[in-house]
Amino acid sequence: MNKALIGMDKSGSFRVYLAITKGMVEEAGKIHETTPLATAALGRVVTGAGLMGLMLKNPDDKVTIQFKGDGPAGEILVTANGSGKVKGYISNSELDLPLKDDGKLDVGGAVGKGTVTVIKDIGLKEPYMGRIDLVSGEIAEDLTAYFFLSEQQSTSVALGVKINTDYTVAAAGGMIIQMLPEADPESINALEKLLHQLPPISNQIEDEIQQSGPKTSEAVCESLLHRIFSSLPSAYRIEVLEYRDIQWECDCSMERLERVLLSLGEKELTQIVKEDRQAEIICQFCRKEYHFDKEHLEMLLRVAVKSKEILEKRKRKEENKEC
Ligand SMILES: [Zn+2]
Repeated sequence: MNKALIGMDKSGSFRVYLAITKGMVEEAGKIHETTPLATAALGRVVTGAGLMGLMLKNPDDKVTIQFKGDGPAGEILVTANGSGKVKGYISNSELDLPLKDDGKLDVGGAVGKGTVTVIKDIGLKEPYMGRIDLVSGEIAEDLTAYFFLSEQQSTSVALGVKINTDYTVAAAGGMIIQMLPEADPESINALEKLLHQLPPISNQIEDEIQQSGPKTSEAVCESLLHRIFSSLPSAYRIEVLEYRDIQWECDCSMERLERVLLSLGEKELTQIVKEDRQAEIICQFCRKEYHFDKEHLEMLLRVAVKSKEILEKRKRKEENKEC
């Protein structure tokens, strides 16, 4: 099940982005053949990025989150866009560590110490980039700190992935609560109180999924929203603004990988044509294999030579103009 909603409280103090991402996390795990710990770590970043994608204005806007720590997980990188499509990878999908004392998967230990970088491409000339030191490597805490330190936004992030004993995904999802500039100060106190006593979001999602019966995914999402916020005073009752789709989808294509090969330049392409006579490229996000035979590579080489000539011609023209 994958579904998200965006809501706002009655007083206009805060906005809520809530998502159930069980399907997405299952798919990420299947593609990257992850261990339970790697599924949890990648799944939390996939969910966090998916939620941050929902905060973007346009469907084509993109957000990329990169966790880079000194722990055994290596790098976790996830990209999401404004239309709810998410893709990502973890460099060590075979990750395994003992459970923590509380019986939970040790995502913080897997990530270790390091940084989280957020890149937002919203169609401006230069993408926006923010980077902070990791707080705990537990992902949600790090993203909360990112919003505060890098975007000066009071935002609370909760993420959860629960794995069954047979290694299947029991539940996955998350929530971002974003305070609005005109927030009623009382609402902040009420939310702090609520978040303080909130059970893990993955448990709440698991309950909702188990009790869902013939309910639509929208109804399950809304029921989860009311369950989470049931103890808030009625002045801050949340209304659903819209339901949104959220799903795992890689946008790789032969054309996109042709551009990757072209970006290597004439010299390197010539070498590949001469020495390897073919190229095999695997998409790091979805593990799909792309095969380029000799004819294909030679064609790309001709394009590379041609575009280099055009560039040089243009450069010479501009130099003459300057004289
Ligand atoms: Zn792909």
